[in-house]
Amino acid sequence: MRRKLVAGNWKMFGSLARNQALVTDVLAGLPQGNCEVAVCPPYVYLAQVAQLTAGSRVQLGAQDLSPKAEGAYTGDVAGPMLKELGATLVLVGHSERRHGHGENDSQVAEKFVAAQAHGLLPVLCLGETLAEREAGETELVLARQLDAVTQRAGVAALANAVLAYEPVWAIGTGKTASPEQAEAAHAFLRSRIAKQDAMIADSLRILYGGSVKAGNAEAIFAKPNVDGGLIGGASLVVQEFLSIIAAAR
Ligand code: PGA
Repeated sequence: MRRKLVAGNWKMFGSLARNQALVTDVLAGLPQGNCEVAVCPPYVYLAQVAQLTAGSRVQLGAQDLSPKAEGAYTGDVAGPMLKELGATLVLVGHSERRHGHGENDSQVAEKFVAAQAHGLLPVLCLGETLAEREAGETELVLARQLDAVTQRAGVAALANAVLAYEPVWAIGTGKTASPEQAEAAHAFLRSRIAKQDAMIADSLRILYGGSVKAGNAEAIFAKPNVDGGLIGGASLVVQEFLSIIAAAR
């Protein structure tokens, strides 16, 4: 039985005051339940949010990391730094990194390996653009993005990772994949992994991300291959985020 995970990706939003209010209200309203909860604030707020969430059920994640452990890499942040601040997980390959910062599959795979090397759970984000979906290339793209990681890290590395299927056309657009579209992509990813290792495929959590809201979370999370969500905009709105967590039973 896979335990669901709902992770909030705050992207480049927040301030000391807003973070404090958001986390305090989320902790106060957290529904009972078995699902795991995480928030991924911008780097500069990790220490603050670590303090706010200390001793709670809410885990701390970062939105990216450097593939390197340290060095002359101006502006980058390394896995050991995230770990020291209390992060337990880290997004890798978010589409805003792939498309906004030109990260390719091989760089994403390097980051995945670095995350695990430094004791962080990588949340590997993958997904097709609208043009790729319309060209019938969704599975091709997902396979390429997944294989880049399994070839570099080995399929066994997925025992200690999470996938997040995030169709690029659904991120921040208000256009969600239908539960059936999400399920089809998740089932494809799981079956591709099962060809190499059925047990790992069966225990791997695959989150859906892209305009998940209180109003659509339940239907998406009800699909058998959907194990929770990666939530952007709605994770910044207390009631939305809490309802999404409640939907992840
Ligand atoms: P969204 O973002 O929920 O605002 O669409 C999801 C994500 O980018 O992880």
